[in-house]
Amino acid sequence: MLFVNEDKTVEQTVQESCLQGQALRPELEGKTFREQWLLAARTGLLRASDGTVTNKLAMVEGLGLSGISPALCYALASQLFGMQLPMQAWLNAEQRRQLAGLEDGETVLCHALTEAHGGSDPMSMETVAQRQADGSYRLTGEKRFITAAPVADHALVFVRTGKGRSPFDLSVALVDLSAPGVERGAPLDKTALPCVPMGVLSFDGVRLEEHSLLGGEGAGFSVMTATTTWERALLMGYALGPMRRMLDQTVAWSRERTHFGRSMSASHLVAGHVADMSLYLYRSRKLLYGIARRIDAGVTVRQLSGEAAMVKISVSEDFTRLSQLAAQLGGVRSYIGDSGRAIDLISPLASMTYAGVNDLLRISVARQAGLPVEN
Ligand SMILES: Cc1cc2nc3c(=O)[nH]c(=O)nc-3n(C[C@H](O)[C@H](O)[C@H](O)COP(=O)(O)OP(=O)(O)OC[C@H]3O[C@@H](n4cnc5c(N)ncnc54)[C@H](O)[C@@H]3O)c2cc1C
Repeated sequence: MLFVNEDKTVEQTVQESCLQGQALRPELEGKTFREQWLLAARTGLLRASDGTVTNKLAMVEGLGLSGISPALCYALASQLFGMQLPMQAWLNAEQRRQLAGLEDGETVLCHALTEAHGGSDPMSMETVAQRQADGSYRLTGEKRFITAAPVADHALVFVRTGKGRSPFDLSVALVDLSAPGVERGAPLDKTALPCVPMGVLSFDGVRLEEHSLLGGEGAGFSVMTATTTWERALLMGYALGPMRRMLDQTVAWSRERTHFGRSMSASHLVAGHVADMSLYLYRSRKLLYGIARRIDAGVTVRQLSGEAAMVKISVSEDFTRLSQLAAQLGGVRSYIGDSGRAIDLISPLASMTYAGVNDLLRISVARQAGLPVEN
């Protein structure tokens, strides 16, 4: 009973959510991403106001544990933790009306920050919302590598409303992706998390009403700090289920497989690798549930930013290490698609890039520790 280390409510929610996921799995087969999204939303996961953050994390873990696509769990966790929960403080009545369908999965939202020249450096973004005489804005530019862009209804689009590099030069608009002047590129041929579509959004003089900006002009950097801190704190919760599944499968395989006339599990080298996998999962759970509880206790985003960066670095790297050991111990079957033991090594690696590249997060952690170091 290595992992019954959280409180009873958490473990119970994980198990209930796992059962819900197992019941969903056959229904998800052969469905489009939007159809899968709608079915998964029936679990209540996206009802942002219903339950604590810790409870939502346990639901995400349980769905992942059930074996439903990690990519779907990633996308659900990304919308919930990286958009729905952190943006509450900035939404006005009109924006709440437009996003009323998020909670039951009828509406899908994406987070459009990255540009061709501005992945790690948001202050260099070129997408512009230019204020017009009547108080509206004209949106022009392009966002790339946006999760769910090919299928989303609305996007949070980070834009430049000032010309300099001050945080107040950035704003964020809620954009209806069916508006005139919005164009979506074809889905990109993404190798990580392939079941979630990713794409390009182009804006050619799109008219935005004044109420489209969250928190008004100049609030973009504050909103981005909140969405990225929440995402760094909790998004990797989607990896806990797959990590536990890989560990369980590796233990079962090591017990079943024989080498040199004895069980593979009798090797101390194999046992050491299994112990490392257990450690990666154990500390990832501790970190994720620890920060979820601190958010529930009311710790502010500003206080959490350094901690969230460390959680993101640690869990993404432990997810990658654990996957690598699972692949190594599974031998050739890890690389055969229909062996039932295939291991996806690319998706864990990609987690070192999204939600803040780990190298730059390390720099921000060192800065908060007191080093005078800039990006
Ligand atoms: C699966 C996936 C989903 C994504 N979804 C979204 C989304 O929904 N919305 C969105 O806006 N974006 C999304 N992205 C894009 C992501 O945010 C960017 O990839 C990320 O910001 C990094 O930008 P880049 O890829 O241009 O890397 P770069 O900025 O080119 O960085 C590449 C590498 O260069 C090194 N590096 C760069 N600068 C420094 C420095 N100053 N110091 C040290 N090292 C440095 C680091 O090793 C870094 O990993 C997604 C990416 C992936 C992989």
